[in-house]
Amino acid sequence: MKDIKNLTFEEVKAEFEKLGEASFRAGQVFDWLYHRGALRFADFTNLPKKLRDELAATFAISSLDLFGVFRSQDRTRKFLFRLGDGNFIETVLIPAGTRATVCLSTQVGCKFLCGFCASGLRGFVRDLTSAEIINQVLFLKHREGEPVTNLVFMGMGEPLDNFEHLAKAIRILNSPEGLGIAARRMTVSTCGIVPGIRRFKGLGLQVNLSISLHAVTDEKRTRLVPINKKYPLETLIEACQDYLGGGGRKITLEYVLIRGFNDSLTDADGLAGIARRLKAKVNLIPYSPVQGLPYEVPAEDKIRLFVQRLEERNVSVTLRHSKGSDIQAACGQLAGRTLLEENPS
Ligand code: SAH
Repeated sequence: MKDIKNLTFEEVKAEFEKLGEASFRAGQVFDWLYHRGALRFADFTNLPKKLRDELAATFAISSLDLFGVFRSQDRTRKFLFRLGDGNFIETVLIPAGTRATVCLSTQVGCKFLCGFCASGLRGFVRDLTSAEIINQVLFLKHREGEPVTNLVFMGMGEPLDNFEHLAKAIRILNSPEGLGIAARRMTVSTCGIVPGIRRFKGLGLQVNLSISLHAVTDEKRTRLVPINKKYPLETLIEACQDYLGGGGRKITLEYVLIRGFNDSLTDADGLAGIARRLKAKVNLIPYSPVQGLPYEVPAEDKIRLFVQRLEERNVSVTLRHSKGSDIQAACGQLAGRTLLEENPS
């Protein structure tokens, strides 16, 4: 059966036309699904009974099955969900004042095998559907009652490697009939899939793009982010410049600081150069330790000098001490572990 949350508003409208129903019914259906978080067609009380039955016979309304919640001392919460096929994904909620940012997964596992990241340690399993991406947000909004103001596609997986499903999920999350979350409040993070960046621009939305840069020479970057071999720095930077063209969009450079690998002042100078070319902000993240990986966090004074150097070069920089590291919810720590491996509260 088709999962109705894999359909955009326009597609649902088209389905209603096929059924010989008025198109305003699509608005009612979206209202139930997204604004009210309904999970059964039987509850759509402003639709005629016959239509509700017809919908129930044609479509499924999926939802995520919560398997565990992990609570960090810093109020970050990590949700472990079990998918219909038994796979696990993780979603992180980061509350901050009146804001609530949700960090979404887009794949089970990952193909890209960045040297410092836990997500690909067990290889790639599969893409998430649009419905599975959207359901992470719906769960937090309707089941947990969180306001959900911002979305970052920085959980497990490489969003631009699951382009079609990502694009559709973003349209539904963005559209006023759906969740109405502004594109400017969404950030898609990529390890640098150049064709994906070009296609992403084609969506014509003002979604922020975050580039997981991490190193400023091809030699070093390829060691850390292997896809750099296929799409080296200059190609990546050009794609970013194109993404910016046409206005409104912003780029952030993510840079994981690793002791003795990319934390020197020469690295900072290289980073400042790229940031200035892209008018990009830099987000520095001290490496979050991942069990079994050989890297280490830089010393605090080294981090401070790195930040200072960027500031001297007039680059806008934020140092993000990644949230939720005590519950393995920090950047790069999501791996879809099961309950047997972790102990949720
Ligand atoms: N595949 C996408 C999105 C997922 S990773 C991407 O590569 O951008 C989200 C962010 O966490 C990326 O910037 C990634 O490089 C960073 N990250 C991965 N492992 C990390 C670690 N161990 N410590 C800190 N950040 C990490």
